[in-house]
Parts: sequence; C-alpha cells; structure tokens
Amino acid sequence: MSTPTTPNQLAALNVLPDGPIAQKQPSEPFYAVWQLLESVTDPEIPVVNLREMGILRAVRQTASGLEVVITPTYSGCPAMSQMHDDVVNALAKAGMAARVLTQIAPAWSTDWMTAQGREKLRSYGIAPPHASRCGESNANVIQFASKNRASSAHLAVLCPQCGSQNTTETSHFGSTACKALYRCLDCLEPFDYFKPY
Ligand SMILES: [Zn+2]
Repeated sequence: MSTPTTPNQLAALNVLPDGPIAQKQPSEPFYAVWQLLESVTDPEIPVVNLREMGILRAVRQTASGLEVVITPTYSGCPAMSQMHDDVVNALAKAGMAARVLTQIAPAWSTDWMTAQGREKLRSYGIAPPHASRCGESNANVIQFASKNRASSAHLAVLCPQCGSQNTTETSHFGSTACKALYRCLDCLEPFDYFKPY
C-alpha cells in the first residue's frame, strides 16, 4: 500500500468525490483498505456494500493516522453506529486501525449509489431510486422508461419482480424511513422502493 505523505497529496485526498465511487484498482492509494471494506455491507440491505451504497466516501491519511469517511443515508439513520463498528472491526481483523469519521455535509444522495448497487437492490426485491438530480445521471432512468415517460414529472417505479410500470405507492414509509412501500398492480407483489434523496 502506498501512503501519500506530502502536504499536496494530503490536500488532494481531502476533496471528497461527488458521485458514485468505482471499485479501486491495485495501483490506487489505500487499495488494501478499500478491498477490506468491500466486505462491509449495509446493515439494512446486506447484499449491497457501503461503497456501492455511496456511504463509504473516502479513505485517507491524516496527521493522526488512517481515516475512513462515511456519510449516512439520512441524518439520524439508526444503522450508522453499526456501520461505524463494522468498518472498525473489518480493518481490525486485518491488523489495521482507522478512525471512522461520519460526515453529514454534503448530504448523501441516491445519486452516489453505483450502477451495480442499484442492480443488486433490484435483485434483492427493492426498486432502486430514480436519480434525484437533473442531468447526465438520469441516463440510467431513461434506459427503462419511454421518452414520453422520461419527460413527465413523475417517473414510474418499476416492479423489481416483473418489471411492470403499473405500480402504486401504498405507504410512504416502508420497512425503514429510507423506503416507501409499493405494490405491483400486475403481479400483485408488494415491494420496497428506495426513495431518491
Ligand atoms: Zn410486478
């Protein structure tokens, strides 16, 4: 693992990315740490890891040692202390120590979820969120919605079981505050929709 130590390198690492974080390559800084953290999953959605969820934002070297930055999906998320402990424990098992910094600004956005994370949500039976912001991040919405649909204010939430657009919200709060409860009017299955933020 290469460890940047010059002031310039440290400053560059303090700029947090605004968007999804791709899986790290062996040539990138702190690769070993990122690899270990691939095994740390969202306590509420165990098929998706923290990087894919967009919760894991940075691994960096500070004057007091290694630091891992995580951003909760919403303020007061009850799973946050669990994620903190899971990160510390995953690193401790490999003989590494890191401070875990919980950063709430800029606020987490569903746009920070990776494409693979969204696909895993769908496979798990949770409809992934539509992009919450305008612009290029809408590309993954348009691919499964018609042009007319895409231009309308309300995009259909697709059923993760059968792909139908014929769905309806039955409760704005599902199993957690992050999700709304939907029901498919074609296959009649209820499902969670991860709401955009
Ligand atoms: Zn369905």
